[in-house]
Amino acid sequence: MPGLPFEQGPIRPVDEADSLLIRTTRGCPWNRCTFCSLYDNYKFSLRPVDDIKKDILAARDYFNGHSFETCFLQDGDSFVMGTKDLIEVLTALKQAFPTLKRISSYGRAQTMVKKSAQAIKDIHDAGLNKLYCGMESGSEKVLKLVKKGITQASIIQSAAMAKEAGMETTQFIIMGLGGKELSSDHALETAKVLNQTNPDQIRLLTIGVKEGSGLDRQMAEGQFHLPGEAEMISEQRLMLENLEGITSHYANHHGIDLLLEVKGQLPEDKKTLLGILDRFLSLDKAGQIHFILGRRLGYYRRLSDMENSLSRDFVQKQADKLMASGQDPEILFHDLRKKNV
Ligand code: SF4
Repeated sequence: MPGLPFEQGPIRPVDEADSLLIRTTRGCPWNRCTFCSLYDNYKFSLRPVDDIKKDILAARDYFNGHSFETCFLQDGDSFVMGTKDLIEVLTALKQAFPTLKRISSYGRAQTMVKKSAQAIKDIHDAGLNKLYCGMESGSEKVLKLVKKGITQASIIQSAAMAKEAGMETTQFIIMGLGGKELSSDHALETAKVLNQTNPDQIRLLTIGVKEGSGLDRQMAEGQFHLPGEAEMISEQRLMLENLEGITSHYANHHGIDLLLEVKGQLPEDKKTLLGILDRFLSLDKAGQIHFILGRRLGYYRRLSDMENSLSRDFVQKQADKLMASGQDPEILFHDLRKKNV
């Protein structure tokens, strides 16, 4: 937000829409994932603790007694701060905003495993009680392909340390990240890691390749073949089917996802969620194209929205035009999807 008397980073998780945002670092210390261009315009730096503390006081004065219950520490990885510094910031934050119940941050698995279990516990006890982890995939092959810089082992170890310390954990998964070739490996290995980590929340995203990104170049060089929308729903089905013995809340919750109604508590809702994916997959090709187009143009949010005859007739006219144009529908779907990246 321009004009604020304290620094703000460019992004926050969807679930932190009402949170106080305090910037502890600028950019991402890794910044090499081929699918990510979030922090391309930010050179990574640790902010001096005194500057962050000044921001906390400026935010307190600016919000003039607003009782925030949640706070998100920006940008890409607050765990890269020295443990003592991070605890000093958390202590100042809790003093300035005593109503805070939840303080969260992104944490890179590879950074977290460099800290001891005791350090993670101390950070939790100082107030950081929620971890957002962008594991994206549990497949070693996919993690390597997209230069994620983390491993199955570091994801599992960091998640275990966070849970042991008492932190709530959210894992982000990107459907389609393995391309067509690694789709099954991506689904099965991700399920395997999720089964071992049992995060409190599993949040799905769908791949959208930004122009000029590393993944865009990998596509141009033939190293990555973008799966179609229905292929990614099949991939998700395979992953979800293989989630066993966990108690996570599972959600497609970002505008970039096709089936936003696939959202529920595991294990009790698993059958219902699989049923929604199956309902989409059982549509014939023309029906799938119709729904995807309606969803990507903003006329549909749920499969049942196709029962509205007004919307249905309008979307069908657009679908007929698309098919008559000879354009590959997946190219249009990806272009529309990318607007949410
Ligand atoms: S995906 Fe996360 S770790 Fe990778 S470059 Fe982007 S912010 Fe950094």
